Amino acid sequence: MNDPAALVVVPPVELAAPDIARWRAGNTGVDHVHRLRADAPGPVVHVQALTHGNEICGAIALDWLLQQVQAGWRPLRGTLTLAFANVEAYARFDPADPYPSRCVDEDLNRVWADEVLAGPRDSRELRRARALRPFVDDADRLLDIHSMGEACVPLMVCGTQDKHAAYSRRLGVPGVLLIDTGHPAGLRMVERGGFGDPRSPRQALLIECGQHWERAAADVAIDALVRFLGLEGLADAGWVAAHTRVPLPPRQRLVRVTEAVVARSTGFRFLLPTEGLGVIPKAGTTLAQDGEHLWHTPYDDCVLVMPGTHNLKPGGTAVRLGRYED
Ligand SMILES: [Zn+2]
Repeated sequence: MNDPAALVVVPPVELAAPDIARWRAGNTGVDHVHRLRADAPGPVVHVQALTHGNEICGAIALDWLLQQVQAGWRPLRGTLTLAFANVEAYARFDPADPYPSRCVDEDLNRVWADEVLAGPRDSRELRRARALRPFVDDADRLLDIHSMGEACVPLMVCGTQDKHAAYSRRLGVPGVLLIDTGHPAGLRMVERGGFGDPRSPRQALLIECGQHWERAAADVAIDALVRFLGLEGLADAGWVAAHTRVPLPPRQRLVRVTEAVVARSTGFRFLLPTEGLGVIPKAGTTLAQDGEHLWHTPYDDCVLVMPGTHNLKPGGTAVRLGRYED
């Protein structure tokens, strides 16, 4: 029992994965992508779920909104795109073994660089990203709904850009905002094009709603979606007030990531218990080992951002290290 990986247990799966087959035929020519156009002009807003196939809170949120649409709800202005992304991985979701259905061939959220999308490589995720790309590139505002492998309070991944943290403060949720340094394994959707350019007015948010399968994650996902539609003027204040599910946090704190701990081999191990947003008080604390290499915390009060070794491969990020700025 010296091996921390031997202690890993699968958290309970409290959420039920909705049947999204009925949403396959959208109106866009791309399966599982729906577009709603208002008469009044406004922003092009893109909401995406299932970028990772086992993060089912996002599927629950889009399934919920599409039911609202069936009941007559429409955006008040602009264009709203609703996309279930990695539907092939989601189709493999197994509550008895829920980790592998994150993806089929590769991580769909590491393929968004132009040279990758336009390059010669092929995978099921790349095919899906190529199909989704026109919608992503058309969007003025983007909300990508995710969840986390380990227990952690909800947080907003603002990419590498301070403009997205400012935008999250206008949204008002969640209580923790994260500015990071990207992933060495590839560009995320929220970093693509103008989303990753501080001079561009385009805004992209990636919300991590909590642990993948905890009941509260679905409420956080629906709440964030409702507030996002309200912020962009696609939904009125009464509808927003009727459907928000989570109280606003008293304040939003920003964690700025300074570095990523990237696995070098399949032998990567944490050497102390980790939890999402856990704080290690002392600089120099030994954190992890990979063969002969040891990682130590670089400063006091080091925040562990989304530590996890499920599905971790060489070159994958095991944890990111950061500091609270406020
Ligand atoms: Zn995810």
